Amino acid sequence: MTSMDRDAVLSALRGLTLPGASSDIVADGLVSAVSVRDGQVVFAITIDPKRARELEPLRKEAERRVSALPGVKRVIVALTAEAAPSSSRPGPQQAARPHPTRAAGQPAPGVRHIIAVASGKGGVGKSTTAVNLALALAAIGVRTGILDADIYGPSLPRLLAVTGKPEAVEPGSRILKPIEKFGLRAMSIGFLVEETTAMIWRGPMVMSALQQMLREVAWGDLDVLVVDMPPGTGDAQLTLAQQTPLSGAVIVSTPQDLALIDARRGIAMFRKVSIPILGIVENMSYFVCPDCGGRHDIFGHGGARAEAEKLGVPFLGEVPLDPVLRERSDAGTPIVAAEPASPHTGVYRAIAEQVWAAVSAGGAAPSPPRIVYE
Ligand code: ADP
Repeated sequence: MTSMDRDAVLSALRGLTLPGASSDIVADGLVSAVSVRDGQVVFAITIDPKRARELEPLRKEAERRVSALPGVKRVIVALTAEAAPSSSRPGPQQAARPHPTRAAGQPAPGVRHIIAVASGKGGVGKSTTAVNLALALAAIGVRTGILDADIYGPSLPRLLAVTGKPEAVEPGSRILKPIEKFGLRAMSIGFLVEETTAMIWRGPMVMSALQQMLREVAWGDLDVLVVDMPPGTGDAQLTLAQQTPLSGAVIVSTPQDLALIDARRGIAMFRKVSIPILGIVENMSYFVCPDCGGRHDIFGHGGARAEAEKLGVPFLGEVPLDPVLRERSDAGTPIVAAEPASPHTGVYRAIAEQVWAAVSAGGAAPSPPRIVYE
């Protein structure tokens, strides 16, 4: 970003004042995280979260002004409770409040079912599962898209080896065409802004960016949009689950006890907002030794299946720990796309069939018994 671009953004915003303030938002230092790249502008306006609803017109006006600058193709403006970037994830205060631009009714026109792929913590293979599940759905003839909602660490650019930028559906339009890859329609904040920019985003920014990616992407007719959720079960995730009309959620867990405790939290979170749990996937379930061919249950395999039974949610399948899965993902050709005949692809296909059966039947598995978590 050149300072020229940044200056142009700031000049456009001069004169915009918060109701009741005497100086403008630029003079008051309320504009932060300005990023300009290839005509994509992202910035935040710091506000008191209690005033979010009242200040939505200000956000819109800021967006309108910057959109009018020459060369600007797309603008994402977020109201945020916190200005200074820090390495921490959003705290409860700013993330918990509902976003003012919550869409009424269907936020993603043409999309029949939105399903979340979630995990109680990072690193369990949520994104790997999301992308392979989406590819497996496409392979069984379900029109599928994938939205990378992991604003803090978008993984779709790498998983699908996407280097190009989404284009507007027509010149001047703010609606973007999703990137098409392996028969999937895909969108990620990582296609739009640099990863370093995405990293500093706070809860409310996550919400407004995600709402934009749901509503302002030409998804077209889709049977299923798979949403790769941000990892964890904090307030940002809860808000997201609450504000997105989800048909159901798939929880990814590793067999370790610790991860299962996190998975239980994930299930509790979706139940709290009455979203059906489509089931649990056990990832890195067991290891097949490439040399001896023997199976090693390094994490004490089977925990997720037992846990699923206890919790009354479907168990969708177990994906082994196999370096080939990681290599395929790193190369930008996930296993389901690269090796349609591999046993791992078969596992994802079976998961996809169960997920599709559940959502197309108009819901998930029958309501499980109510369980109280301590
Ligand atoms: P998360 O989205 O939960 O943070 P990722 O899907 O990014 O997790 O996976 C974390 C790492 O583990 C990645 O390098 C990925 O390639 C690798 N990985 C995920 N699942 C498997 C698996 N079943 N076998 C081997 N490596 C895996």
